Amino acid sequence: MSAPKFRVAICGGGIGGLCLAVALSKYAHIQVDVYEGAGRFREIGAGVMIWARTWRILELLGLAEQFAKVTDVEPTPDVGFEYRRSDIPTGFKWNFVAMPYGCIRFHRAHFLDVFVDNLPEGVAHFGKRLVSYEKGVGEIRLTFADGTSAACDLLVGCDGIKSVVRAQMLRAKAAEEVRPDLLALIEPKWTGTIAYRGLIPAKDLPSADGTRHRTLGTPMMYCGQNKHIVAYTISAGKIVNFVAFASELDKEGRDYGGEWVTDCTQDEVLQRVDKPTKWAIHHLAELPFYVADRVVLLGDAADIFSQIKKKLLKTHLGSGAGQAIEDAFILASVLGATGTNNLDEALEAYQRTRLPVANHVLRSSFESGKMFEFNSSFAEEYSTLGPAIGRQWGFLTESTPEGEAEKALGILRTLASG
Ligand SMILES: Cc1cc2nc3c(=O)[nH]c(=O)nc-3n(C[C@H](O)[C@H](O)[C@H](O)COP(=O)(O)OP(=O)(O)OC[C@H]3O[C@@H](n4cnc5c(N)ncnc54)[C@H](O)[C@@H]3O)c2cc1C
Repeated sequence: MSAPKFRVAICGGGIGGLCLAVALSKYAHIQVDVYEGAGRFREIGAGVMIWARTWRILELLGLAEQFAKVTDVEPTPDVGFEYRRSDIPTGFKWNFVAMPYGCIRFHRAHFLDVFVDNLPEGVAHFGKRLVSYEKGVGEIRLTFADGTSAACDLLVGCDGIKSVVRAQMLRAKAAEEVRPDLLALIEPKWTGTIAYRGLIPAKDLPSADGTRHRTLGTPMMYCGQNKHIVAYTISAGKIVNFVAFASELDKEGRDYGGEWVTDCTQDEVLQRVDKPTKWAIHHLAELPFYVADRVVLLGDAADIFSQIKKKLLKTHLGSGAGQAIEDAFILASVLGATGTNNLDEALEAYQRTRLPVANHVLRSSFESGKMFEFNSSFAEEYSTLGPAIGRQWGFLTESTPEGEAEKALGILRTLASG
């Protein structure tokens, strides 16, 4: 008789949860279940970009060929963002950041579909909105809003910014360790920034002098005081993804007081944006841990946005999805290499590897948002601001995903042997 499988429950089927599910389902000793609150896996109608580092992970997971079919750019070096001053009558280019292998762009729905297509049968469970979990003898019981329940050996919270798993984990730790300060980390705070998002058919893009609009050729960052616009093509160049950020610095940390994501009118954004949406960008305090016993956090549930004091945003480096994928890759690597015997050590190895990197990206991202809106210490000094922006992406090449996985496995081996 074969040994019972180790049961991993993934709460939330966004990019992070689905990447983890696909990566874990390759291991024969692991049973994977994804519990998604919605009736199906879905992404919003917008673009997502990843960098060469994340592309490498997709290669290591054996998925790159499938992702290549749904990206509109050949991953080639030296494509990056062009930065323009755009809040004055005559705009001008003041910076260009070339990236190794450029930015690789997708329609979000197509991106998610590749993970969905690689999920083995029986892994996905829909309409399963987690309400709470309870640690029983040797297992964790999950309770869902539809009145059903399930059991697992490890719960991974991939349930996004409003994570139920994170909230319960922090409440439990605050009570156990008499640390009321942890309760302040539960609720995300508004950053004072609103992002307007939408897609524009490329054929509708206006061109002042009859020439091809520059956004159709190069990913663009249109910068102004307290606002900036990110625009790049997806879907084989037929669609332009558009995100306009508007910041009110004095509103940082206040309650937003409404729905965080709503539809908005074209009048509020641009006539040509199809079905625009309005996002109140929220941030969380940096978490001191990702793991509590057999419960672990990943992706936006773990670290999405920022530090209370420093106000960090991963959004500005186009890295939230990439970081969630890297979380999934490292967690799958250590779980794949261990059985239940060394589970605590595996989770500790995941935490020690990911926490410092994720926090570093958060910090760089926060600073980048300020730089794009001329609110950093460089202000409008283009000659120093440009290179400083380039350095913000340093984390992409300072290590490799394989190296990070090897580091995590080394920590696991050391902890397991000690
Ligand atoms: C304006 C903007 C632009 C961005 N652009 C980029 C970019 O270009 N590149 C990039 O890398 N990142 C980008 N990001 C960040 C990126 O989108 C996120 O970091 C990423 O999608 C997070 O994935 P996730 O799986 O952790 O969470 P989510 O995508 O939020 O998925 C969470 C899932 O959990 C489900 N769920 C929630 N609660 C429960 C529950 N209680 N029970 C069961 N299921 C539940 C939800 O239905 C959802 O399916 C951007 C973010 C913003 C706001």
